[in-house]
Amino acid sequence: MQPFSYLRPTSLAEAVNSAARSPDTRFIAGGTTLFDLMKLDIEAPATLVDVTALPGVDKIEVAADGLAIGSLARMADVASHPILRDQYPALSESLWKAASQQLRNMATVGGNLLQRTRCPYFRGGEPYRCNKRVPGSGCSAQSGIDRSLALFGGSEACIANYPGDWAVALVAFDAAIEVAGLDGVRTIRVEELHREPGHTPHIETVLHPGDFISRILVPAAATARASTYHKVRDRESYAFALTSAAVGVDIQGERVRDIRIALGGVGAKPMRCRAAENLLKDQPYSRELALKAGETAFIGSRTSTHNAFRVPLGIQTVADAIDIAVKRA
Ligand SMILES: Cc1cc2nc3c(=O)[nH]c(=O)nc-3n(C[C@H](O)[C@H](O)[C@H](O)COP(=O)(O)OP(=O)(O)OC[C@H]3O[C@@H](n4cnc5c(N)ncnc54)[C@H](O)[C@@H]3O)c2cc1C
Repeated sequence: MQPFSYLRPTSLAEAVNSAARSPDTRFIAGGTTLFDLMKLDIEAPATLVDVTALPGVDKIEVAADGLAIGSLARMADVASHPILRDQYPALSESLWKAASQQLRNMATVGGNLLQRTRCPYFRGGEPYRCNKRVPGSGCSAQSGIDRSLALFGGSEACIANYPGDWAVALVAFDAAIEVAGLDGVRTIRVEELHREPGHTPHIETVLHPGDFISRILVPAAATARASTYHKVRDRESYAFALTSAAVGVDIQGERVRDIRIALGGVGAKPMRCRAAENLLKDQPYSRELALKAGETAFIGSRTSTHNAFRVPLGIQTVADAIDIAVKRA
């Protein structure tokens, strides 16, 4: 790990100004992913701006029109918040099913959004080539073991997947982030935060240097209460998703009035599946239709020998998530 300077601002303006001074500066919140990346020599910031002393940025506010969650709120606190557990179970479950209790006690919901891929060729370093790690160096994953990598959104330069759970649930419910930057405050839909790799896989989000995520805004929705985050992984806890689905439904009688479906684990970024949603909207619910929605969600996936099993698994994941949400309704 290379030496770095350390700042601990006590106001948002000071934090943004300090971080905007150089692209080599990183905010540090819980540190649960940034320190790992520094130890692996993937990140080598010249300056760390510790944001944990910023006042009020960890508040969880609940109103009739939705939630406003401070980016420095800990994953464990958000997951166990009674309103989230009761009225937004998909959001709560996406956090409960992530990482371990120790990590959730330390990690923040803002830092969680900006975690980087778990692609072994990205994290492995030499002798592997990785365009995300060293732009222009190549992609060893293309001819390597891609069992857990992206089925959607990859490019010739990169097939890494986005590993987080929380962002998937946020995308399902049209959440946005509030971002404080040098030019003031703006909002960005979580669905538009992450970028597909294209030719520049090292540019992972639409954020600019110095941009600080201050709050996560989740609008109230009739689909939020009967919702679930269904995560399938190699073991039942402390593992990243092979496939996952965030689903929420609003049902009247047998008829699906509204539905939200987002896919995790399988894309270069979290994916909203509107074609699958449209298949179910205004239709009487059936398991057969749920499976069709799963099949629709996986249209266009690109597979290889190692990862083809995740298509039927993903279809089942979507269908089972819809079943769970419908039962909750
Ligand atoms: C062993 C292990 C298993 C894990 N399993 C899972 C899992 O199953 N599912 C899952 O979703 N996650 C998983 N994670 C990831 C974990 O949830 C993240 O490490 C954590 O949420 C990051 O939060 P943090 O506050 O520690 O971020 P930090 O490490 O402090 O920061 C992460 C990044 O975000 C930036 N940043 C932090 N806060 C802000 C902000 N407010 N504005 C702008 N930039 C900011 C930092 O500069 C840094 O680049 C796992 C991690 C580990 C180590």
